[in-house]
Amino acid sequence: GAQSPTPHVVMLPSPGMGHLIPLLEFAKRLLFLHRFTVTFAIPSGDPPSKAQISILSSLPSGIDYVFLPPVNFHDLPKDTKAEVFIVLAVARSLPSFRDLFKSMVANTNLVALVVDQFGTDAFDVAREFNVSPYIFFPCAAMTLSFLLRLPEFDETVAEEYRELPEPIRLSGCAPIPGKDLADPFHDRENDAYKLFLHNAKRYALADGIFLNSFPELEPGAIKALLEEESRKPLVHPVGPLVQIDSSGSEEGAECLKWLEEQPHGSVLFVSFGSGGTLSSDQINELALGLEMSGHRFIWVVRSPSDEAANASFFSVHSQNDPLSFLPEGFLEGTRGRSVVVPSWAPQAQILSHSSTGGFLSHCGWNSTLESVVYGVPLIAWPLYAEQKMNAILLTEDIKVALRPKTNEKTGIVEKEEIAEAVKTLMEGEDGKKLRSKMKYLRNAAERVLEEDGSSSKALSQMVLKWKSKISGQKNCQTK
Ligand code: UDP
Repeated sequence: GAQSPTPHVVMLPSPGMGHLIPLLEFAKRLLFLHRFTVTFAIPSGDPPSKAQISILSSLPSGIDYVFLPPVNFHDLPKDTKAEVFIVLAVARSLPSFRDLFKSMVANTNLVALVVDQFGTDAFDVAREFNVSPYIFFPCAAMTLSFLLRLPEFDETVAEEYRELPEPIRLSGCAPIPGKDLADPFHDRENDAYKLFLHNAKRYALADGIFLNSFPELEPGAIKALLEEESRKPLVHPVGPLVQIDSSGSEEGAECLKWLEEQPHGSVLFVSFGSGGTLSSDQINELALGLEMSGHRFIWVVRSPSDEAANASFFSVHSQNDPLSFLPEGFLEGTRGRSVVVPSWAPQAQILSHSSTGGFLSHCGWNSTLESVVYGVPLIAWPLYAEQKMNAILLTEDIKVALRPKTNEKTGIVEKEEIAEAVKTLMEGEDGKKLRSKMKYLRNAAERVLEEDGSSSKALSQMVLKWKSKISGQKNCQTK
């Protein structure tokens, strides 16, 4: 028969590896399972990072990308929050995005625009050309529940959320103390908060929200989201979509080689995501704690920042040599049982390797999902964004993570506390329990992504809808 036309989707990731990576995985599923083609329109303020280039240069044919002309941030004050840059990068790219989108409408069977949690300003462009806008939400269902209710909270809560006497209760979720919300929610006068609210209000304008999670991982929260039948937009859990291959750098190849030679499940992977940085005191303490634990580890080290926990969000690679900030004698003292990787490591390969038995993580949602998919229990060390909420979910709700305590006076997690957590995770009875829960989740994750699994079905349903749109258009044209 006649070949059906190829449906096309435009995706617009806001700046940040944690937004680009899962959207790319979503695109790959549309390409490999449903023969869609996808164009990425990438806004930015800075030239692309090494990590970005490496991941974009290895895309399969069928997924294209275009860098939108860099936007100008010269007018923003120095203390501008990351979230403001992220939202404005999208907003200020809209004129060039509109040009690109217009040509996509003319030259492809464009069925949808997909943005992430910060990109709803682009909805206007999609609507102008009668294309359906969607959100791909790359964080937990718990976070989505919170943002969907943010407009309501903003109207009904008078004080700062961190001053609320009671934790915030969302249907099906563990209670969240106000102080554990992401930083932008701690100052309602700040532009970061206002832009979050602006986006959250616009979620209602989407034709659907794809959620990178699955029912077994967040049973209560997802049930609540799916049950509200009057909910608009509908939520479609399609996860866990995670990076399979993150290789590329030479530094990375070396640590994988080393991993090959280590005993099964013996290595702790330590990483704070693409943007996380610690203070120099905390780096010192972490080094001593890891050394004290006596366990094997791979540590992705970044230069310290005493200013912001997300200091390297846009650059990833530290300006200075991160290894020079480690305590004296540390590298020698742990030689043979540790590998220290500056700045960026092939995380997916490390987590999927059988020598890896634990993950000390900042609890970014992608890292969390990767840990689940590869069945690796966690030590939760949240830093910024919604990571504290994820840590609550992982330690109190799902129970796949330990959480070392911070000394309230100094704000530091001390070496004894770190060493204890590592030992418990890697060799203790509690560690075993976390590991077996992770195994259950890993199996569930595998099932939902099989052909008749819930996440695959949720996507197929949308695909059918999109395809029927094209044939509808065709019929109109031939009439
Ligand atoms: N990542 C990586 N190597 C690194 C650090 C991060 O491959 O050294 C990948 C990681 O596997 C994940 C993403 O970058 O897919 C980070 O996303 P996440 O949501 O965990 O945290 P964020 O960086 O957004 O805080």
